Amino acid sequence: MEKYDVIIVGGGIGGLVAGGLLARSGVRVLLLEQGVHVGGCAATFSHRGYRFDAGATIGCGFHCGGPMHWLAEQLHISWPLRPLPVAWQYCDGDLTLALDPDRSSLLQRFPESLGFWREQGELADGLWDLSECLLALYGQGRMRQAASLGACLVPRIKDVQLLRLASMSVAQWLKGHGLADNKLFCRFIDAQLLISAQTARAADCNALFAVLALDLPRRSPCVFDGGMGTVAELIGQAIGTSGGQVRCGEKVQSLTLQGERIGEVVTEKGRYQAKEVVVNGSSATLALLLGKQAPSAGGGKVSDRTAWGAFILHLGVENSTMGERPGDHLQLLRPESIGLAEGNSLFLSASPSSDPTRAPSGKRALTISTHTRVDPWWQAWRQGKEAYRSLKGEYTEAALNVAAGYIPGMRQGMDFCLAGSPVTYARYTGRHLGLVGGYTQTRLRAPEQNRFGLKNCTLVGDNSFPGQSMAGVTVGATMAVDLLLRRL
Ligand SMILES: Cc1cc2nc3c(=O)[nH]c(=O)nc-3n(C[C@H](O)[C@H](O)[C@H](O)COP(=O)(O)OP(=O)(O)OC[C@H]3O[C@@H](n4cnc5c(N)ncnc54)[C@H](O)[C@@H]3O)c2cc1C
Repeated sequence: MEKYDVIIVGGGIGGLVAGGLLARSGVRVLLLEQGVHVGGCAATFSHRGYRFDAGATIGCGFHCGGPMHWLAEQLHISWPLRPLPVAWQYCDGDLTLALDPDRSSLLQRFPESLGFWREQGELADGLWDLSECLLALYGQGRMRQAASLGACLVPRIKDVQLLRLASMSVAQWLKGHGLADNKLFCRFIDAQLLISAQTARAADCNALFAVLALDLPRRSPCVFDGGMGTVAELIGQAIGTSGGQVRCGEKVQSLTLQGERIGEVVTEKGRYQAKEVVVNGSSATLALLLGKQAPSAGGGKVSDRTAWGAFILHLGVENSTMGERPGDHLQLLRPESIGLAEGNSLFLSASPSSDPTRAPSGKRALTISTHTRVDPWWQAWRQGKEAYRSLKGEYTEAALNVAAGYIPGMRQGMDFCLAGSPVTYARYTGRHLGLVGGYTQTRLRAPEQNRFGLKNCTLVGDNSFPGQSMAGVTVGATMAVDLLLRRL
């Protein structure tokens, strides 16, 4: 039986970051990924000459001092990134806002929000500094860590506004700025929070989390040559360069228990042993690997909901379809819709026309995604192929109609359209019920760690740390590895 210091189950960003840092520390690492390539929700796959992002399309946290910049320094990676001067364009009927770092178009349309954005920007700068401090603790001795953490936290504890925001919702924060009755502005904020904090309404989102969630357009948003999957591939290569192993196409079927420890990692190809096991997934993933029952997906009411699925379209289109726009990413709202999930708000990303690796000549790879509840998809799946196909058709038509309202000629310029649902995500990313987005930022709560009291198991990924973006996953995985290294 092959033996390692650490086995990592899953090669999403969480598993890869853990693998990269561990291998770099000289630990014997084996990363097992069920898919044909690494990346999970941040992978890029090929289809008919196009390269499509499977989920994530915009990078953030790659700025100097940001988590992804820090990671690149640790692993000696150089990111082939392309900065986005406009992160995305927000379109709600006649209202169009280009989200640039200065928020100029936003402030022009909503000058009354200046005080709100000023406060958000100052607080976000402080929180980014804090994440830089947390990353700087990595690998230090306990005493030095305590001293550095103290030096980093003490000035912030005095920051009364940060403490106040930690205990309030975004709706209350907006009220404090006299913006709560500004319907158009509040709808804009709700739409931003849905994609960045996974909350359905400002009333549900914790204001402290929102400070960072609303900051993405300010923090050097970017895309990558070859698509988002390039990030995962480069981290995977760094694992190999440091002596670790990455095996794709090998699904972990179960974890066997020996008392309070994981004894063996079992795949269809073999059995492995390791001192420590890192699971790139949620408590539900771990439960199922242990042969235990997974927790439920959360309540039916929007405010109770703790997790979302995604419906996604991958389209090959003519280059000219997108027309002249300030950027390649659009957030498109169904005009006057009530609620923003289930196709009422779409996030559309087109591959850069200047990246020849992404699409055949004269074409572009487009993804369009929307938040969706997972239950109806599984119900349709259980009813059979026809019911599932029909639900997919319904969502596809609705999404294309909204998109075509803003991009005339969209249907005519389309080569093909592939649809993916929570059932697809469950299959390709191994995520329980196809739930994506991770830690719902409704309130401050302890990040999810393993609920089974296992002594040699660590969870990484977007359920284990707030801030579902790749940057949040990276900070979470780094902190987890720092603890793990002390046990080896
Ligand atoms: C539609 C969509 C759009 C998004 N947009 C953005 C964006 O623009 N920017 C951004 O920063 N973030 C975005 N995100 C979020 C981001 O993609 C995720 O938070 C992040 O990639 C999650 O990484 P992870 O490590 O938690 O897990 P995952 O990406 O889920 O990776 C888990 C990995 O484990 C593997 N695995 C699971 N079970 C097993 C098993 N039994 N054996 C072996 N392997 C296994 C899976 O195949 C997968 O590769 C988006 C997400 C979605 C769904």
